[in-house]
Parts: sequence; structure tokens; C-alpha cells
Amino acid sequence: MRKLVLATSNQGKLKEIEGYLQGLDIELVLKSKDLEVEETGSTFMENAILKASQVALAMGEWAIADDSGLMIDALDGAPGLFSARYAPTPEECIDRVLRELEGKNNRQGQFVCAVAIASGDGKIILQSEGICRGEILTQRKGQGGFGYDPIFYVPKIGQTFAEISSETKDQISHRGLALENLLPQLKELLS
Ligand code: IMP
Repeated sequence: MRKLVLATSNQGKLKEIEGYLQGLDIELVLKSKDLEVEETGSTFMENAILKASQVALAMGEWAIADDSGLMIDALDGAPGLFSARYAPTPEECIDRVLRELEGKNNRQGQFVCAVAIASGDGKIILQSEGICRGEILTQRKGQGGFGYDPIFYVPKIGQTFAEISSETKDQISHRGLALENLLPQLKELLS
């Protein structure tokens, strides 16, 4: 069984990624807490690559990392790489986005997720990106999810990310799509 280190100490992400990798000959483990990688890249992919590569090298095992965020067209792609720290709390991040979009007609945007896998020598062996387009509502709708979910409305399902089940979100979300794209190649590498 191939050990794959998840380059995050976030238990929630472990559960989510575990779900996608079910059935593969993989044991997913969390990186050690004191191993911090600075996200100095200028794109989501650069950050995913940095994290996967440095964690793989430090642990001498394969490592998988992701980086994601919300890009809003009328805000020139903001909050983008700064999605997690656009304001001190997730609630205030939403408030800031709503404030900045006041009076703007174009409320289109997208969630983006980049995923990279590195082998034990730090070399990137797989990378993939998933995008989910949607619209930013003028107020919150729905109780579930996290981050910007309550204001991210997906026209093709007629609901926000905060209103849908985690199963549906896995099928249509940026993270779900990035991991789904990666699966066939990962299976091939493991065989
Ligand atoms: P990271 O990939 O864990 O660094 O996430 C970056 C930030 O992007 C999160 O803290 C959220 O603010 C935002 N984000 C990424 N994916 C989602 C999502 O699926 N729903 C809501 N917010 C998200």
C-alpha cells in the first residue's frame, strides 16, 4: 500500500480527500503539525506544487497538496490567493466581498482548486485543476458549508454551496473536479 502524506493538518480536508481516494491502494496520512510550508506562489498551482514538493521531500514519502480560493470577475480575480485572509474572520470575508460588489452588475465568479502530488524526492508527478463557476449573491443563503459558501450560487443547480449536500458539492465543486481529473492518472501510477 502506498503512503500518501496530505500536506495539511486540517482534519476536514483529510476526510474529504479520503472519500475521493477510496478504493485505491493508498494510506492517507496527515503531515506533521510542525512542518509548515510558506505559500509564496503567485498562483493556486504554484502553491499546491510548493506544498506537495516540500512536504514530500521532508517526509521522504509521496505527498498531495491543494490550494483553492474564490475569484470574482468584477474584482479582478480578488480575493483569489488571499481568500482565507481577506478579513480577520470568514464572516467578515463575506461582508468585505458583499461591500466591494455593491452597485456592480457583474457578479460572476469562480472557485478554483489546484492539486499536486509529489514523489518522495520532491518531484511533481501529477497536477490538476478544477473550476466551478457561479454568481455572488447580494446576501447569504443556506446554513451548511464553510468560507464563502453562503454567497456562492450555482445557476445550474439553483442553490448556493451552503444549501447543497456534501455529496452534491463533491460532484460539482472545484475541489471535487480537480480530484476527479487526477484519479485516472493516479490509478495508473499505482498499478
Ligand atoms: P485553502 O485552499 O484551504 O487555503 O482555502 C482557501 C480559502 O478559500 C478558504 O479559507 C475559503 O475562504 C476559500 N474556499 C476554498 N474552497 C472553498 C469552498 O469550497 N467553499 C467556500 N470557501 C472556499
